[in-house]
Amino acid sequence: MHQKLLKSAHYIELGSYQYWPVLVPRGIRLYTYEQIPVSLKDNPYITDGYRAYLPSRLCIKSLFILSNETVNIWSHLLGFFLFFTLGIYDMTSVLPSASASREDFVICSICLFCFQVCMLCSVGYHLFSCHRSEKTCRRWMALDYAGISVGILGCYVSGVFYAFYCNNDFAPRVVVMYVIALLAFLFYISKVPERYFPGQLNYLGSSHQIWHILAVVMLYWWHQSTVYVMQYRHSKPCPDYVSHL
Ligand SMILES: [Zn+2]
Repeated sequence: MHQKLLKSAHYIELGSYQYWPVLVPRGIRLYTYEQIPVSLKDNPYITDGYRAYLPSRLCIKSLFILSNETVNIWSHLLGFFLFFTLGIYDMTSVLPSASASREDFVICSICLFCFQVCMLCSVGYHLFSCHRSEKTCRRWMALDYAGISVGILGCYVSGVFYAFYCNNDFAPRVVVMYVIALLAFLFYISKVPERYFPGQLNYLGSSHQIWHILAVVMLYWWHQSTVYVMQYRHSKPCPDYVSHL
């Protein structure tokens, strides 16, 4: 009776409090680090909250449950919507009001398109990393790496186009971007802070989540810098001796 509506309560640990009840749809259960397949074993300091052995349909459904991937998935899904919305805003308002050229439109579109691809590849990987087929998981992981490369390409294209434009203060903005990128990378490789609080940051506050949020911040910063330099370029044309070089 009412089998489809049945949900089971599962208790999870958040911080040092161990008994937060969450509703888990039928067919999905959460596993501990010891129970998951070797291919998913990447971070022993995340001790619980793993999804595993799921068919595609349940991977997608797991978007709406609290697991140790929830923040990873949603941070980049919201990141995707952020860059999608920024794209519409730029094309309809920011660029026309800065009397942007056709090149500006192309560069800005490439930049934001790359950022959106980067975000979606990451969402796909974190959503399907629990797929029951190891081959599927590996393909999604490759796509996640490819997505990061596409994101970097997006920064590079606008960077090359605007960076060396006469004398403006683009350089400090590039430095800030590198600092954010370095910080994100340090969290990523060091597994700080969960290393110091094993089992307590399974759902919230782990290094990968920080890396995800810093990735969105970094791409957002880069987008703002690109728009800033584009506006600067149109408001203060280069002196003759530079533009004739
Ligand atoms: Zn990730």
